[in-house]
Amino acid sequence: MIDNEVEYSEEQIQLITQYLERENISGDDWGNEEFNEIRGVIKNHYKIEQGYKCPYCTVVYPVNHGMAWDIEHIVAKDKKVQFMFEPRNLCVACKDCNAAKSSKEVLTNPTRVRFPKNSRDYKIVHPHFDEYSEHISAVVPGEFYRPLTEKGEFTIITCRLLRFYGVVQREQPEQEINDLAKVLINSEGAARRVIEDELVRRITAKRKP
Ligand SMILES: [Zn+2]
Repeated sequence: MIDNEVEYSEEQIQLITQYLERENISGDDWGNEEFNEIRGVIKNHYKIEQGYKCPYCTVVYPVNHGMAWDIEHIVAKDKKVQFMFEPRNLCVACKDCNAAKSSKEVLTNPTRVRFPKNSRDYKIVHPHFDEYSEHISAVVPGEFYRPLTEKGEFTIITCRLLRFYGVVQREQPEQEINDLAKVLINSEGAARRVIEDELVRRITAKRKP
């Protein structure tokens, strides 16, 4: 969970306030030159505050050049432009999670007008409002995750955290793991747990030299 949100300077607050009063604003304005400095402040703050760890896949990318990181709007800026600069709607995420999550709806009630400040207002494990480990067990970070709650499951699906297909295919095609993973997605209850255990066993076995 992120402890400290980004803080803006007086000037930046003024710019944001004036922007939000304009007519016809949209998420596309995020890339405007007038926000270059603010975007830099946000990215630097959260990279350090999060310890270079993606809040969804928990993989640590200790890379300082900006390319490894995307500024992540937890509620998509295309959905709620009024939350675009809200500090608790912002963090950094890895490119894979950010791209998978895209503009998907994460609010329990999408008609909300004011910024929702409670965990229960979100379907996704919220980087500012939720304790990750209560919702997801990152069994093999970057490859395999086990949902502990409904929120956890929603997050795994929304951010497409089960990426081991890709890893497996890149390194060495492993048909059995691939097939098992496909079966897992369509299984439930006890069967699901058995398949998960087997997958974890195979993935971790494969990693040993
Ligand atoms: Zn990630």
